[in-house]
Amino acid sequence: MNILLFGAPGAGKGTQSALLVERHRMHHISTGDLFRHAIKNQTPLGKQAKGFMDKGQLVPDEIVVGMVEEEFGKLHGKQFILDGFPRTVPQAKALESILNTHKMRIDKAVFLEVDQGLLMDRLTGRRVCRKCGAVFHVAAKLPKSAGRCDECGGELYQRDDDKAEVIKTRLEAYEVSTAPLKAYYEEIGRLVVVDGTGEANQVFSRIESLLRA
Ligand code: AMP
Repeated sequence: MNILLFGAPGAGKGTQSALLVERHRMHHISTGDLFRHAIKNQTPLGKQAKGFMDKGQLVPDEIVVGMVEEEFGKLHGKQFILDGFPRTVPQAKALESILNTHKMRIDKAVFLEVDQGLLMDRLTGRRVCRKCGAVFHVAAKLPKSAGRCDECGGELYQRDDDKAEVIKTRLEAYEVSTAPLKAYYEEIGRLVVVDGTGEANQVFSRIESLLRA
């Protein structure tokens, strides 16, 4: 099964993708992770994306779509989970044409529903491992050793775009550009809406039972 996960920043896409990957051994394509990796390695793609990301804006469609096309070239028919892509209706249309080229399809577009107050709390409290990308939270998911990742011992940090002033722009970008995807996937019969509140494992069980249905 091929899945895409979408929702507002802080809805839990990364956390749920990691659980799905662990359980189903799917190939994980996270456009946010790909950009952060490119920025860390100071590649031309990273340099193009950084300015937009730092301001909380979406990276322009043509840059994102080009990057995703390349990732699909590496899939070799493996099942995949798309995390954070598409984020606009033009990206969703471009995805259809990439999928046609590779004779693949999206089986379910999973929308993680979370209210605005909880999103703010999740984003401002989020801490991420610099080394492996594992996600923690200052109140809801403390690491065993302060400031260190439970998985690999890497340093935990706050993403620049998780600071309050940038979050506002990210949430606005979500409302304007990403929220319309819900209607798009509903219209083509792929939409699955999941309550994204509560513990990660609870949300995961909801996703699993809806995917089985
Ligand atoms: P994420 O890790 O998914 O929260 O993404 C972090 C940032 O990367 C976003 O705020 C955007 O600036 C950029 N980004 C990630 N995916 C996309 C996308 N599909 N379209 C445009 N920008 C994206």
